[in-house]
Amino acid sequence: MGPITVKSRKKPHALLAYEALFRQLLSQYRYHKSIVSEYKREKAGYDGERHVDYKLSTYPRKDFFIFRGLRLANPPFHFQMDTLSLTRRFICILEIKNQQGVFKYDSKQRQLTQEIDGKIISYKDPILQAEAQKSHLREWLAMHGIFNIPIETLVVIAYPSTIIENIHDDPDVYNKIIHRESLHEHLDRLNGKYPDTILTNAKLKNISHALVDENTPLRTNPLELHGVSDKHLIKGIPCPTCYSTPMKRLYRNWKCPACLTLDPKAHERIIFDHFLLHQPTITNKICRSLLQIDSPKTAYAIIKSMNLPGSGNNRGRVYYSPSIDEFPQNSSIPVTFHNPFEKKNLE
Ligand SMILES: [Zn+2]
Repeated sequence: MGPITVKSRKKPHALLAYEALFRQLLSQYRYHKSIVSEYKREKAGYDGERHVDYKLSTYPRKDFFIFRGLRLANPPFHFQMDTLSLTRRFICILEIKNQQGVFKYDSKQRQLTQEIDGKIISYKDPILQAEAQKSHLREWLAMHGIFNIPIETLVVIAYPSTIIENIHDDPDVYNKIIHRESLHEHLDRLNGKYPDTILTNAKLKNISHALVDENTPLRTNPLELHGVSDKHLIKGIPCPTCYSTPMKRLYRNWKCPACLTLDPKAHERIIFDHFLLHQPTITNKICRSLLQIDSPKTAYAIIKSMNLPGSGNNRGRVYYSPSIDEFPQNSSIPVTFHNPFEKKNLE
């Protein structure tokens, strides 16, 4: 048994939205360079975080509460933390880095650089990034009546092949930027540093609830970001097997005219994709247009079968998207990439 997981990591909205975009784009646009590169960035971030999740899940102490992918408000700002571990003695923010290659960290200039093909690329100082989250979190906690709990930060390198050269051999850096493999050691070190209980069980419970309740996941809009409009998108339901469109409604079922696949729930995917890409609500009229059907009765039955919360009456009735954590996680996409980061042994 490892630490208690309060919130398991689900795919963030951005990753789900890019997956939806690949399904919705006409095939000739699917490999658009900027879309592919943004998708890969989101995917690498998510994969890196899952590798660190796995390492954290094998940490033997049970008094750690782990929160993943939190985004909280410290007005007028929002701040996001990849992983937060909460104990009654201290809090630790983990900032997870998934880049691969050789990097130089300059603790005097506060700069992280990488040389690729003779060009120097410079990145934000990950230690300062984590420190910024820490000061936001300190203010957020103060708003919740918590003033005295120590907050530590660790920048965790997700992939063992990544090399960070600490060019001034600054001893602090070795405790601030760490490899995933040494995560347990550093958590042990922090445990030793903070032996005193600060939070009562009741306070710990209050903060845990507030962290979950006040989490406001970011909604990204890849359509707007990449200038994608309706003319670039398919119409109707794509076949889950061969991606031909549209599937035809046939006796409470959907049938692909090309490969004859039958899928009675084929509409669910496209309604979820609509929520991810367009807006988090749907009406009977929008549903008919999405599914390319004429009958309001059929659309009503379909929406009803998905148990979506709704409000309003008759023609004005609007139905709402489930929360982002409740979206299907295992959706396939009609594109393949060679992904050198992919590791199979996650669970
Ligand atoms: Zn098909």
